[in-house]
Amino acid sequence: MKPQALEKILKDAREKKIAVGHFNISDFAGLKAIFEAAKELAVPVVIGTSEGERSFLGARQAAAAVRSLREEHEFPIFLNADHTHSFEKVKEAVAAGYDAILFDGGKLPLEENIRETKKVVEYVKSKNPTILVEGEIGYIGSSSEVFKEIPEGAAIRPEDLTTAEQAKEFVEKTGVDLLAPAVGNIHGMFANAPNPRLDIARIAEIRVAAGVPLVLHGGSGILDEDFLGAINAGISLVHINTEIRVAWRKGLEEGLKRHPDEISPHKVLPSAVDAVKKVVKARLALFNRIS
Ligand SMILES: [Zn+2]
Repeated sequence: MKPQALEKILKDAREKKIAVGHFNISDFAGLKAIFEAAKELAVPVVIGTSEGERSFLGARQAAAAVRSLREEHEFPIFLNADHTHSFEKVKEAVAAGYDAILFDGGKLPLEENIRETKKVVEYVKSKNPTILVEGEIGYIGSSSEVFKEIPEGAAIRPEDLTTAEQAKEFVEKTGVDLLAPAVGNIHGMFANAPNPRLDIARIAEIRVAAGVPLVLHGGSGILDEDFLGAINAGISLVHINTEIRVAWRKGLEEGLKRHPDEISPHKVLPSAVDAVKKVVKARLALFNRIS
């Protein structure tokens, strides 16, 4: 697979009614798991690092690692600066060589969100027009965790979800390449129940009004049929984090149990890699409609 530009890949995904998977990492074990899963299925993939994950890994180091895989394997693997809240962090990601940046003003009132996001788009494009900028409308919770109830303030009541008019105004005024609307999705997942249902009809309306590829955050815990409905309706990029964090934890515990006296990380960590890889592969197969 020749690495094409991410913008073209997302456009093609829309035509084929499939979606690209976006998975977060905190370390090399995660990166290895996600890359191997994507490579085995021969589908493009986006790696994400939140501000917290970035500060642990190093923004430049994350960018160098992802670029090295893309170059060595001529493989379409990209790096996104997930949920970037400050202008400083935007600058850091641009300088580090990220392929895409999500500026998250979802918690701000719409007018302010538009103003701040527009500033980010202008800055990023002046530095490197090929970097994609994603904007977010509506607050959908902020932590990728397993929880018991809906995070406080998360927009899941119909009246709080993004409207087609808001999406149109936001994209026109900011010039973002990608849009993450609030369509019933929330970050994190429940321990023993699926996440709330998505508003598929709304996604279709927003896609038409916005005119840019849509991104679905908080993919963990969503029902398969909702994913497929959302992808049909216009979602071209799906974020998964909580599910792979759970898999990592279980895989790591499994590895420690299997090798109780082992002190070599490279002998224990493959259990975590395998567990994450399994989840990523299943999600990529679903999003890319590979049976
Ligand atoms: Zn997110």
